[in-house]
Amino acid sequence: MKVLVINAGSSSLKYQLIDMEDESVKAKGLCERIGIDGSKLTHKVPGREDFVVDKDMPTHQTAIELVLEALISPEHGVVSSVDEIDAVGHRVLHGGSVYTESIKVNDDVKKVIRECFDLGPLHNPANLMGIEACEAAMPGKANVAVFDTAFGMSLAPYAYRYAIPEEYYDKYKLRRYGFHGTSHMFVSGETIRYASLPEGHQRVIVCHLGNGSSISASVGGKAVDTSMGLTPLEGLVMGTRSGDVDPAVVQFICDHEGISVDDMLTILNKKSGVLALSGNLSSDFRDLSSAAEGGNEKAQLALDAFAHKVEKTVGGYLAVMNGADAIAFTGGIGENDCAMRAKILEHFGFAGVKLDPEKNKVRGERCEISTPDSAIRVFVIPTNEELAIARETVRLS
Ligand code: AMP
Repeated sequence: MKVLVINAGSSSLKYQLIDMEDESVKAKGLCERIGIDGSKLTHKVPGREDFVVDKDMPTHQTAIELVLEALISPEHGVVSSVDEIDAVGHRVLHGGSVYTESIKVNDDVKKVIRECFDLGPLHNPANLMGIEACEAAMPGKANVAVFDTAFGMSLAPYAYRYAIPEEYYDKYKLRRYGFHGTSHMFVSGETIRYASLPEGHQRVIVCHLGNGSSISASVGGKAVDTSMGLTPLEGLVMGTRSGDVDPAVVQFICDHEGISVDDMLTILNKKSGVLALSGNLSSDFRDLSSAAEGGNEKAQLALDAFAHKVEKTVGGYLAVMNGADAIAFTGGIGENDCAMRAKILEHFGFAGVKLDPEKNKVRGERCEISTPDSAIRVFVIPTNEELAIARETVRLS
């Protein structure tokens, strides 16, 4: 079975064609500048030169048509016809409080995705365009929506409700949803499998640390808490996002600087996080680490603040679950930044965590990095959201 995985953004569309026999990627690529001058498709097939198409893509539908042409092209393709693609899996940001798991797309599903435009204004309209483009280009093929919010839907009310007047929950469904759900679902599941944790109530903490960062706590593969909220702004200190701040900060800056709440949210999303703490040096952890090694105090502050918030969150989740069986690191930083992993894990000696410094040198590969006598086992588990979407698509189509 071959599954096409689509991640549609407002002006971009990423895709992967995955052969589910061996879960290998046959081809992948990116359409850029959809609806803007200078659109381009870059199509990659393992072991071959990239195939680049510079052609106008006024809509997502023209983008999908170009992707299908590339996939079946005699020269650059990997299948002989579109019939060889069995189903399509779509990354969809927000399923609101309606969808607690992935679902095969029909008119009702599209209606809910549309109703959630308010909650995911940057992503949901584009995700829906991607679905409708595939329906038009490949009529009759199963499309499956995999929601980034679904993993967080198993939280109990005491974990997802904001302590604000009830009417805002009733009227607008304002609650904590959590994001990176597909990654947390994949990594917690892979951790359980890789660690061979006994069936039942496996308690896993996943630290997805990248440009956007979040942490989840799950029991038996079901989330019990997650650090992002109504939007991906809540929680950890991130590349350019502030994470948690006292909401009064927003009012204070708006009043004193004469800017709007919208402007303030742009600042909190794009100009904050480690970028801001490092004095605008960089949001990239490689730059920050080398600057800190060279004595840059602001870069060191940024790294310290990032680690501190991760430690507080992991510590909180240990309390929430009364311990944990495994902690897994994933995302660009979680998979590659050994020094950051060591810095964070130093704080869990009290819980019996013992890191193996040799094993912790691993980058981007699955590995158990704790010692055999560690009370909580610690892993690096690379995330693979596309594969998670493809597996869900197989399950539901
Ligand atoms: P992501 O958003 O998951 O792609 O992660 C991006 C972040 O991962 C950036 O801050 C990168 O600096 C960081 N990262 C990627 N590779 C490395 C590495 N080898 N060492 C340290 N950080 C890395």
